[in-house]
Amino acid sequence: MAAGGQDDTQRPTEGGHERVLLSPPDVGPLEESYLLRALRSGWVAPVGPEVDAFEREAAERVGTAHAVALSSGTAGLHLALVALGVRPGDAVIVPTLTFVATANAVVYTGAEPVFVDCEPDTGNLDPELLERALHELRAAGRRVAAVLPVDMFGSCADYGRILPICAAAGVPVVEDAAEALGATRDGRPAGSFGRAGVLSFNGNKIITTSGGGMLVSDDGALVDHCRYLSTQARQPVPHYEHTDTGYNYRLSNLLAAVGRAQLRRLDSMMARRRSHRSRYAELFAQTAGVRLLSAGDPTANCWLTSIVVDAQATGWQAGELAAHLAGAHIETRPVWKPMHLQPVFAGARALLTGTAERLFATGLTLPSGSGMSPEQLDRVCARIGDFLRSRPARNRNLPGVRPAQDAESVGSALSTS
Ligand SMILES: *Cc1c(COP(=O)(O)O)cnc(C)c1O
Repeated sequence: MAAGGQDDTQRPTEGGHERVLLSPPDVGPLEESYLLRALRSGWVAPVGPEVDAFEREAAERVGTAHAVALSSGTAGLHLALVALGVRPGDAVIVPTLTFVATANAVVYTGAEPVFVDCEPDTGNLDPELLERALHELRAAGRRVAAVLPVDMFGSCADYGRILPICAAAGVPVVEDAAEALGATRDGRPAGSFGRAGVLSFNGNKIITTSGGGMLVSDDGALVDHCRYLSTQARQPVPHYEHTDTGYNYRLSNLLAAVGRAQLRRLDSMMARRRSHRSRYAELFAQTAGVRLLSAGDPTANCWLTSIVVDAQATGWQAGELAAHLAGAHIETRPVWKPMHLQPVFAGARALLTGTAERLFATGLTLPSGSGMSPEQLDRVCARIGDFLRSRPARNRNLPGVRPAQDAESVGSALSTS
């Protein structure tokens, strides 16, 4: 996948320089010992005690009563929607600024993803626009079957506003917390806000099982139903009886063991990502026109740190810094390309302010991995320092950040993009 450096087939060393990746897996002796223990226990066939323990431990961490371990976060989103009864013809509201998995899960059910723009400071779903989208869809006679807020780059969406809006509309919330394990908002852990929450343990995420996910919820019946659907919807009889269409979405016992080791290390890995963000914040503090996405969120897990560049104030664009760092074997990525701009969603319904498009055009995600060594981070910061010194700000008197466009400019109705 894009933002996490998942498609890196390069070796970590290249041209004699160690390549600094965006967010590579951070695994070591603890993961090795847990994995070996699981393998030697004989529980290799998919289910086993590591899966049960990983579910208990993850649920405890997220503060939900139940959890089901799955083969991916995408599988979790899909099952949550199926279990909530999302069906063809329904609308499901998705932030336009997200990884494609959020929207794909809706498509798998036959429902229509409707894209809503985000807040400029965080890139998270804009509650005011959400309310308007709900209103307009219902006025048009559409059934809105779910809202899928995303905790962008590990910063929780504004649930203090989102949950009451959805409750008033009678629409369930599924929290896409794929990026946000360990983060909190108003004292509540990411993953615990909706009817169900979904975590990802993809290779680039804050903890990894090399590939995996989890659905968490206080609703035991919902989690049981998802567990049943995830194992081919097998009836409890010896002869493989099926009354529903199921899926093969369970996490294996071996990978659950890796996940347990990672979960034990979550706090220390999160501390390292947070300290990377602080370092970047310091580095850019004197640069007018550069801000950090979600800079004001002290409870983010800091999965990825992105800067947002106002080229009018800096005299340079995010892409120029990206090219400079690429030349020094340092990986960066743009912020997500909004879903309404993706060819696969051409013509999709969307309620837009231009904020997501601006973040895509002006954002740059910097190396954020918890395995990044102090020497690597020093090198990244030194190369950024070189770049900043080579581009003295040209327009020091211009305001650093343009005021956020307000929702008035959207136009009167949901538009097709
Ligand atoms: C990673 C991610 C997913 C998908 O998780 P997988 O485990 O890779 O299937 C879903 N939503 C968001 C926002 C993500 O970042």
